[in-house]
Amino acid sequence: MNGVSGATKNLGVIGWPIAHSLSPAMQAAAIQRAGLDYAYIAMPVRPETLKQAVEGLRSLGFRGFNVTIPHKTAIMDCLDEIDEDARRIGAVNTVLHEGGRLLGRNTDVTGFLRGFLRQGVTVRAKRAVVLGAGGAARAVVWGLLREGVGRLVVGARNPGKARAALSDFAGAEVFSWSDGAFLDALGAAEILVNTTPLGMAPKVEATPPVDWGLVQPSAFVCDIIYTPARTRFLRAAEARGCRTLNGTAMLVGQGAEAFELWTGVRPDEDAMERALLEALQTGKETDA
Ligand code: NAP
Repeated sequence: MNGVSGATKNLGVIGWPIAHSLSPAMQAAAIQRAGLDYAYIAMPVRPETLKQAVEGLRSLGFRGFNVTIPHKTAIMDCLDEIDEDARRIGAVNTVLHEGGRLLGRNTDVTGFLRGFLRQGVTVRAKRAVVLGAGGAARAVVWGLLREGVGRLVVGARNPGKARAALSDFAGAEVFSWSDGAFLDALGAAEILVNTTPLGMAPKVEATPPVDWGLVQPSAFVCDIIYTPARTRFLRAAEARGCRTLNGTAMLVGQGAEAFELWTGVRPDEDAMERALLEALQTGKETDA
């Protein structure tokens, strides 16, 4: 579809600030490839006007919208329903408008898993290790647990804080990443995921303290950082002989999942990824 008409259905993203968002580029590519009559725009919404903005989008008949910083938690009070993934994570990143009701979703969970599936990697019954226990780790940890991972060990610099943060995820064992029990889990890991910001631009020389001599070369290693595309962590994993996946997969995956919820059409994820990489190359945009 080229251009917009009176029949065009509306989608978008709300955040503050929003000019740095990567979602318009990704979603526009998906809409174009699918040949659908949709438009996706970035909408700056100040925290103090969130409620009015959400009601406005409902009144205007938007089919749905993405939600980014700083609204992901606050928006939960403005919606009619929150699904299990969003409730578990404590954040909504996608809203679907269905029959006048606004439904809150979190597509980071399935988005993270979609990246694995695109590589033909399943998580059921596998031994997984996750580094870090912040906001993004919640989506990763819940995604792995939801898909029936065999054992899930989280390594953190501050295990007390990490244990408290992940206390609602039964099945996640948390250790200091210098603990012997953590090092044993690292040696047995079939899946290893970095969710800390260590290695993210501009501090590209930073890396989580992984003893690569312990890691099985057969392990599948993922870094959810997407700037730079190959972090020091992923380069070390490759040097060890491991298969790797970077953070663009999760970013594209969450966008693809949202697109599918709104349109019922499976998007061309390769086209979304190309648009994302192009937007990243402009050097300005950094967020979903
Ligand atoms: P966050 O909530 O601030 O959590 C960061 C986690 O890393 C915390 O557990 C924190 O530990 C730990 N950490 C931070 N600095 C550390 C250091 N110097 N040494 C050891 N541990 C450290 O951040 P987030 O929102 O989860 O984001 C984390 C990363 O994920 C960012 O790089 C972000 O860009 C990326 N991300 C990617 C996607 C995607 O779609 N690909 C989506 C979301 C986020 P403490 O609690 O002890 O500080």
